[in-house]
Amino acid sequence: MPANSPVPIPPLFLERMKNFLGDEFPVFAESLNGIPKSGLRVNTLKLTPEQFKALSLFSLGENVPWCPSAFTLDGEDRPGLHPYHLAGLYYMQDPSAMSPAELLAPQPGERVLDLAAAPGGKTTHLAALMKGEGLLVANEIKNKRVGHLAQNVERWGAGNVVVTNESPERLADHFGAYFDRVLVDAPCSGEGMFRKDMGARADWSTEMVAGCATRQGNILRVAAKLVRPGGYLLYSTCTFAPEEDENVVARLMEESGDFEVLPLPQFPGFMPGRPDWAESAPQGLSGAVRLFPHRVIGEGHFVCLLQRKAGDEKERAWDASPVRISKQFWPLWQAFLQEVVNVNLTGERLRVVGERLYYQPENIPNLNGVHLIHPGIWIGTFKKERFEPAHPLALFLKPGEARSVLNLAADSRELAAYLRGESIPTEVTGWTLVTVDGFGIGWGKGVQGILKNHFPRGWMV
Ligand code: SAM
Repeated sequence: MPANSPVPIPPLFLERMKNFLGDEFPVFAESLNGIPKSGLRVNTLKLTPEQFKALSLFSLGENVPWCPSAFTLDGEDRPGLHPYHLAGLYYMQDPSAMSPAELLAPQPGERVLDLAAAPGGKTTHLAALMKGEGLLVANEIKNKRVGHLAQNVERWGAGNVVVTNESPERLADHFGAYFDRVLVDAPCSGEGMFRKDMGARADWSTEMVAGCATRQGNILRVAAKLVRPGGYLLYSTCTFAPEEDENVVARLMEESGDFEVLPLPQFPGFMPGRPDWAESAPQGLSGAVRLFPHRVIGEGHFVCLLQRKAGDEKERAWDASPVRISKQFWPLWQAFLQEVVNVNLTGERLRVVGERLYYQPENIPNLNGVHLIHPGIWIGTFKKERFEPAHPLALFLKPGEARSVLNLAADSRELAAYLRGESIPTEVTGWTLVTVDGFGIGWGKGVQGILKNHFPRGWMV
């Protein structure tokens, strides 16, 4: 069967939803035949939503009511193919999937964990809300998915993120109750994907719902251990089944006795959590929110925010283990700072791994033993007699921080050639930041009238 050929919506799913939704069911069922709404969330680390709108690039629709940095998308635009996407100016996301990060509301400077993070929709959102400050650990258990997460994080250009590839259990063993906020965007039966993913329809069964519920309970139980006393735990899914939503939270509350549900803001169209749909869930669960495609713009989500009770659990002691720049490499780094970039990078945040230099989030604890995929911004690599900038640095630098810049227009032939990996004629010499309308997109090296291309192959569209 071709990947997205039509698959009927499972009749048993519809029957269950009819029982839950009662009078609302016909409108819900009708909405499942509608076209999925996509959204575009602006990278506020690089520009404001107003500045983005002024670029008049795509047919942007209304603002997403619960996410001030996002717009709905109308029309036939393909923003994923635009050079601004490669420069990390925005992320394409279902508007309902923008609710978890907004409702968790992380603050700049906090310690935040995104436990099930690939491909990075919520990670990029959390990083922007944190203004790139503090520590955001974005974790993905699956080897196959973690690379995509790391690439999305690198494109975003946030200096406060590390990407890990671990099980929740191993993270809990390493960190203990370390984080101010933990997001669990759990793997689920994906009923909220039925409009856009025929595979989700084909895979659905009540056995699958039950299996997901068990797995979600296990993940949430471990996630709870990672929240500091007084900290916050946000649980979300893109499914409507109460077994995977209210029931999972109710079980955690019952078992741990240490968490209470905080009532979330009810934006127009949101439905309160439904303890009455669950097996046995406390009334407080009506403080959660349910997003349905017949009530709001978006595909569907469940979001519940919990707070851990205050307590006196002590944080474990961390021994710092920065690996600083060696004497041998120091002059190469100094020369790079003088010739190529004009940026103030705090010394304690620099870390050498092999030949690579990274800029890590501030006050990072010792991560020895944790499988790190992206230890921070990869700044560059020490070669025999020089230091070469890395692609993620191009996406991290702010305007004015590169000494040599070649600015190309988004619709120029030169930029199209550069993004295809070709050399382009230019007067600039040495390492040069290529920008698209002022936004860093990659590196090139000017030699004798030619800009040698350093745009990585794996990033070409
Ligand atoms: N938060 C992501 C985003 O916004 O782009 C989407 C996350 S997706 C709903 C759930 C993720 O959980 C998947 O990437 C999946 O690989 C991961 N996962 C699967 N089993 C898991 C487990 N046992 N523990 C933790 N994560 C798991």
